[in-house]
Amino acid sequence: MDRLRFRSLGSGSSGNCYFIGNSSYGILIDAGIGVRSTRRFLRSMGLDFPNIWGVFVTHDHADHIQAVGSIGERHHVPIYTTLEIHKGINRNYRVTQKLSTSQKFLEIGVEIIVGDFTVKAFPVSHDASESIGYSVKYRDKTLTIATDLGFIGEEAAEHLIDSDYIILEANYDEYMLENGPYPLYLQERIKAPTGHLCNMQTAEFLAENYTNRWKYVFLCHLSKENNMPELAYATIVEHLKTQEISFEDNTEIIPLERMKPSKMYVFD
Ligand SMILES: [Zn+2]
Ligand SMILES: [Zn+2]
Repeated sequence: MDRLRFRSLGSGSSGNCYFIGNSSYGILIDAGIGVRSTRRFLRSMGLDFPNIWGVFVTHDHADHIQAVGSIGERHHVPIYTTLEIHKGINRNYRVTQKLSTSQKFLEIGVEIIVGDFTVKAFPVSHDASESIGYSVKYRDKTLTIATDLGFIGEEAAEHLIDSDYIILEANYDEYMLENGPYPLYLQERIKAPTGHLCNMQTAEFLAENYTNRWKYVFLCHLSKENNMPELAYATIVEHLKTQEISFEDNTEIIPLERMKPSKMYVFD
C-alpha cells in the first residue's frame, strides 16, 4: 500500500512549506520558501513540480506565498485557495510573478479531490486578507494543519480533533515574548486573537481535547526570537502530564525546525 507521507520543508516566519503525499505525488501546503530550495527538496524525495498536483495556500503573508508565482505560472502547478486570499496574493508586492492561469478557487467547507487526496479548508483567525487551515484525507487517515491563528475556534478544533496527524502552531513562549526584543505594539499584535498561538494555548487545547487517535502532533511556526523547540516541547509535555493525560504510548510530539526540512514521515 502506498502510505501517506509528510515532510516539513520549512516552518516559521522565514518560510513555510509542507509536503503531504505518497511515494509518487502529493500536494504542498503553502509555498513560502524559495522556488529553488523547494525544487531541491522535492528532488531529494525523488519528485519534481509535475508530481505536485496543487499548492494549497493558508493566507497571503509573504512567509507563506513567496514562491507561489513561479511555482504556479512557470512550473504550472495549480495554486488553490479562496477568492479573497487569491486577491491578497496578487496584491502582495513580494509576489512579483502574478497568478493567472494557475489560479484555482476553493470555498471554505467544500471538499476538493486531488488524486487520492480530499482537501477541505476551514476558517482560522489571523490578520491577513482571509486565513484558513486544511484537513487532508487520504484513504482512512486524516491530517489537519492549523498555522497562523490567534486562537483555536470551533471549526479548527473540530477538524483537529477528527484527525490522526496534526500540525499545529506553537509560535511563542509568553515569557520570552514579554521579555524579548519585540516592541510593545508588536507583542500585542502577536498576542491578539488575530495573531499567533503561544505554547500554552496549544498545550491547553491538546490537553482538553486529547484523543489517542492522534499519532503525531507536529508543532509548527515556532518563532526564532520568542520560542525554542525544546521549550515548546517541554511546555506542552509538562502540561499534558499535569493534566494526567497519558499520551506517551500513542502520540509523538515533534517541534518542526524553522530552517531545515524535517525527515520524511511515512505513516502507517
Ligand atoms: Zn506565517
Ligand atoms: Zn501569517
